[in-house]
Amino acid sequence: MTADPALEKGAVRTTCPYCGVGCGVLARVEEDGVSIAGDPSHPANEGRLCSKGSALDETIDLEGRLLQPRLHGAEIQWDRAIAMVADKFSQAIEEHGPDSVAFYVSGQLLTEDYYVANKLMKGFIGSANIDTNSRLCMSSSVAGHKRAFGADAVPGTYEDLELADLVVLVGSNLAWCHPVLYQRIAAAKKDRPQMRIVTVDPRRTATSDIADMELRLAPGSDVALFNGLLDAIAKTGSLDHDFLERHTVGLDEALDAAAEVSLQDVAAVTGLSADHLQAFFSAWIETEKVVTVYSQGVNQSSSGTDKVNAIINCHLATGRIGRPGMGPFSVTGQPNAMGGREVGGLANMLAAHLDIENPEHRTAVQEFWQSPTICVQGGLKAVDMFKACADGRIKALWIMSTNPAVSLPEAGSVRAAIEACPFVVVSDIMAETDTAELADLVLPAAAWGEKSGTVTNSDRTVSRQRPFLPVPGQARPDWRIICDVAAAMGWKNAFDYNGPAAIFREHAALSAVSNRFGLDFDITGLAEIDDKAYEAFQPIRWPVSKKRKSRDRFFGDGRFFTSGSKARLLAVRHRAPESAISAEYPLRLNTGRVRDHWHTMTRTGKSGRLSRHMAEPYAEINPADALRFGIAAASLVRVENPYGSIIVRAIVTDRVQLGSVFVPMHWTNRWTANGRVGNLVRAVVDPVSGQPELKASVARVVAFEAAWHGFAVGKREMKPDSAYWSRSRFASGWQVELAADKAPSDWEAHARSLLRIEAGDAITMIDPSRGIVRAAFIEDGKVAGAFFASPGPVELARSHVLNLVAAGNGVDDLLAGRPGGQISDPGATVCSCFDIGVNTIMSAIVEGGLADVEAVGEAVRAGTNCGSCRPELRALISRASLQAAAE
Ligand code: SF4
Repeated sequence: MTADPALEKGAVRTTCPYCGVGCGVLARVEEDGVSIAGDPSHPANEGRLCSKGSALDETIDLEGRLLQPRLHGAEIQWDRAIAMVADKFSQAIEEHGPDSVAFYVSGQLLTEDYYVANKLMKGFIGSANIDTNSRLCMSSSVAGHKRAFGADAVPGTYEDLELADLVVLVGSNLAWCHPVLYQRIAAAKKDRPQMRIVTVDPRRTATSDIADMELRLAPGSDVALFNGLLDAIAKTGSLDHDFLERHTVGLDEALDAAAEVSLQDVAAVTGLSADHLQAFFSAWIETEKVVTVYSQGVNQSSSGTDKVNAIINCHLATGRIGRPGMGPFSVTGQPNAMGGREVGGLANMLAAHLDIENPEHRTAVQEFWQSPTICVQGGLKAVDMFKACADGRIKALWIMSTNPAVSLPEAGSVRAAIEACPFVVVSDIMAETDTAELADLVLPAAAWGEKSGTVTNSDRTVSRQRPFLPVPGQARPDWRIICDVAAAMGWKNAFDYNGPAAIFREHAALSAVSNRFGLDFDITGLAEIDDKAYEAFQPIRWPVSKKRKSRDRFFGDGRFFTSGSKARLLAVRHRAPESAISAEYPLRLNTGRVRDHWHTMTRTGKSGRLSRHMAEPYAEINPADALRFGIAAASLVRVENPYGSIIVRAIVTDRVQLGSVFVPMHWTNRWTANGRVGNLVRAVVDPVSGQPELKASVARVVAFEAAWHGFAVGKREMKPDSAYWSRSRFASGWQVELAADKAPSDWEAHARSLLRIEAGDAITMIDPSRGIVRAAFIEDGKVAGAFFASPGPVELARSHVLNLVAAGNGVDDLLAGRPGGQISDPGATVCSCFDIGVNTIMSAIVEGGLADVEAVGEAVRAGTNCGSCRPELRALISRASLQAAAE
């Protein structure tokens, strides 16, 4: 009998498949489904989960799953599918050389999957044309680390975020993108109110909620800000000369570059006042325990690597690195971005943090693999890989667990490039993605909850993902698919693993080579792990060598991984984003995440709970810009530029600066008519890292004129075809927002067709003169759907309507579109866990005089489970107190 109480209750310990925090999850299969809870023993989250993690149980059903290989839509057997991939790749290699084939992989892959994919491409095919969607996420951090430290080593740990006296969050909406880290910092600040938080972001985000100081700088001006800080460090006599002398090079050049611009110049470039800058510089300089956290706002830039080095320069200049509560800290977007870095999943890296450019490294890896060849130069990075598909250089492409037709810049051109490639195979868990529909062959992969392996989170902690569900249909783990293809290409012995544990052992053993060359990545202490120990594997932070168990921080001893063991300060200078604002395209287009969705929504889109927080794609527009461009709140707008045009809902808010527009990244053709913001992102990249500039394109916003707008809610999946539509799940069905330029001749027939309700009664209220339509449809005596239309955006208590359709009753209320009698409208969902709406929360705050989130939780439960909505609760409390003060 096990001594672990969680396991005694039948729970399986696994790891969340979403962001780079890497939270431990307890999953338990029960009679009526799967229960999900945070794992109290996991060091990343200690039992916490955010809204996405908490709703994992709603995303693991088999609806929409790909369960059999399909060739041009027709199901085929695995043997034929594997033979076809092997033949097509072998043929291309034979006729056009190894660089005519490519893999585009993903931070969703487990380390074992990643390892064999990289081994096949770099060591057996002999090309480095394997790149990962992590290129879009943190490759600038990798490049910055390598330039400064000589290796891609994250110096600190999550504990440092709690130990710091000052946490600076740069380009990081932690509250929505890494919510459990946000919760850890918020809890630390509550315990130690003297702890200060600074946010550096062009937008005001949910994370600003805990900020003592907000620096809403101009997009792309981070290098100027941190150069200003470096200059101030020098001018205030705050350089750590002893550390700099003994452990670094490049100080003079970095200081000269920083001193080229005055404080007034920094103010002009960043748009921040000199007073504001001075206050930030003073706080940073005077606080020894400072951690500078950065994320996609830094990385996704044409100067992303320079931004990373500008931040690292300040920590090196003050010797604030590698000690508790201080250091630069990159948080990764994806669950296994770090694992991908460890195995060489990027086109410019070899396995185990070794360098492709170094012939000794190449020889050592080839000897270790006993492979027939080894790549001799870096391969095509993500953006270039798809350009090579478009111009015919790539003849066979394998896309694994990612959706580049949505997520890459100039997504429309990427679609065309995939279509142009002679042979495209996609392995995925879902049958219908924007990318899978373009593939010749699709291969069913095992999903989270079914597959087994390891992932590494942002602070180098390796954890297990464990299966607790059977692998459905003909789906297979990615590592097995890759190894089967490798075997069919003639390399059976080198890919003859009996499971992920065997792959992990090899991966760990290879890290001895990294170690031999004096590099950072070292998990040799795990190289002899047996299958039983692999099953029982507890989270552990690398390095884990044979000599020492595990180490928290790098660089506390002042030793770096460069040839002279000294860190490098880099001379970096501000460069504006590549795309220039113009009279034609006067807005800076920023992209990012929403709280409750993940990437292209293939999984989170299944959850009604998660979909209710943000049910539509939108553009945040500053009120002054809305006035300037004639945009009304909640209207539909076209956001357009030379690369494309999308239609989304306008949110008029001062969260975005004047001259900026923000559009989330998640919506695909499956969820909306035309809301893929990747269409608008120009494919310019950082010259060092190759990371695309996803946050600084240019655009204009114009009102989208429609003859009518509609809203429908029903039990069945709806597939609209109007000029604008956006659909989402709710607990017991689907909801759709619509707009079109021509009214249907028969409203009832139109509504029935949309709702897929052919029979049954319809109760309609149609006012042709005002263009108002309200219709409820009854099946078997219960409300099965409702349809509303009006000349402008439909004004309706949506949550109330959804609740009525879910309950199947309340026709009168339904047709009124808002509650009657004593019933109240809960309003838009704020707390996803308990589906508590904004009106419910505001009433509780106002009527109860509630002054903090704990009181709101006690009153209406909001914020008492995952805590992801707590920033929004605090904002509502502030709003209520402002309203009260104004009355
Ligand atoms: Fe998953 Fe949320 Fe934890 Fe990220 S913070 S790993 S999304 S539970």
